Amino acid sequence: MIIKTIDNWGNYPLITVPAFGPPMHGEGGTGVDVPDHLVKNKERRFVENQFNVVASELISVNRSLPDYRSSKCQDKEELYRSMTLPKVSIIIVFHNEAWTTLLRTLHSVVNRSPLNLIEELILVDDLSDRPYLRKPLDTYLKRLPITIKIVHLKERSGLIRARLTGSEMAKGKILLFLDAHVEVTDGWLEPLLARVAEDRKRVVAPIIDVISDDSFEYVTASDTTWGGFNWHLNFRWYPVPKRELQRRGGDRSLPIQTPTIAGGLFAIDKQFFYDIGSYDEGMEVWGGENLEISFRVWMCGGSLEIHPCSRVGHVFRKQTPYSFPGGTAKVIHHNAKRTAEVWMDEYKQFFYNMVPAAKHVPSGDLTARQKLRNDLQCKSFRWYLETVYPEAPVPAIFHSLGYIASQATQKCIDTMGKKDGQPVGLGHCHGAGGNQVILVFLFYLYNLVRTITKLFY
Ligand code: UDP
Ligand code: MN
Repeated sequence: MIIKTIDNWGNYPLITVPAFGPPMHGEGGTGVDVPDHLVKNKERRFVENQFNVVASELISVNRSLPDYRSSKCQDKEELYRSMTLPKVSIIIVFHNEAWTTLLRTLHSVVNRSPLNLIEELILVDDLSDRPYLRKPLDTYLKRLPITIKIVHLKERSGLIRARLTGSEMAKGKILLFLDAHVEVTDGWLEPLLARVAEDRKRVVAPIIDVISDDSFEYVTASDTTWGGFNWHLNFRWYPVPKRELQRRGGDRSLPIQTPTIAGGLFAIDKQFFYDIGSYDEGMEVWGGENLEISFRVWMCGGSLEIHPCSRVGHVFRKQTPYSFPGGTAKVIHHNAKRTAEVWMDEYKQFFYNMVPAAKHVPSGDLTARQKLRNDLQCKSFRWYLETVYPEAPVPAIFHSLGYIASQATQKCIDTMGKKDGQPVGLGHCHGAGGNQVILVFLFYLYNLVRTITKLFY
């Protein structure tokens, strides 16, 4: 069978991709070297999706991938087969996704999941303006051997509200969110479902491997990486600390308890998703929702895990290709501010000191989210830092945050981006946070010790 891919704006056949044909480029997860005659095309079209869409078009939508699981993980297959796992609704939202990456996402799910576990696949088109994502997509979906529902939203809702539309339609006991440019690998689904089935308060993510934005090579990520965040309230990957490796008794096939999840790919019990407040509908377009749901799940009685026996590749991009209605920075600050205001208690100061611009961006009405936190009697952010994430770059105990400036020269202490005990410098006080924010923690300790000493002598 030959599938015609359709040029983004011209709506004419551009290149043919055999769906069940002979091996093409990228088989076995290898990268694509775009042939010379397509190099110009590749460069011109990179901006369409901020990845090499020409390389993607040279790869079969059914491309093969090795089984990346450890032997210990593979050995658990038998066990999963003997379990009665609940059915899942897989929800994929997209805005102007490339044709081939979207189809490869769907084909990989169909090819590598036990179809009896999939209640349905729900696609939510967040007001894409590319014609191939309307009728041609609707028609294409009919040939896949699973139930697929597609909704074309009438207004740009952003990924948070688009996912909520999807989850409201879902019939499965478990919800599983995926991005629209992923490739799942052998045995990816069962470990996620098994963990959630065992304890409905667990939110479980796979290891997210890297599909190169340039060559589409499938590169495995470390199985000793977990999710954290920085003072700017960006999600960040960090090495799993020793204590968590020890808690698992050194068994690398056991789930890692992680302080945060990246947000794009995770399984959650549907009822639990609603019980803990689903998503913050006040968040726009993209960003911030991953930390919000991470803090909320831990603080309100659930837990977050990364399951090393489940691997899904994702095309990580250096930039977002789509527009941010309202302005990129404003939207991102708005979303992060909602997280900080509702969940971070006195620690929100860290965020405002690093991102002073966020102080002036309206957060919108927060009463419903604050009420949710109250009603659920969630724990404090300090509890989260002390219990779940003592390695956080935000210390659980601090006195204050600010600048240290010289009155004479009006210069401020500035880390100049240096780390790990390197000497700091002096710079013009810019008042924009960043490298000039000083944690008054040591001074506090020093004063405390001095006071105690004075009491005794
Ligand atoms: N998305 C969406 N509406 C938006 C922004 C993003 O539906 O306004 C979709 C996007 O197409 C993707 C998912 O949300 O399938 C996550 O976005 P993206 O992949 O850009 O985020 P990243 O993986 O880069 O963090
Ligand atoms: Mn993505």
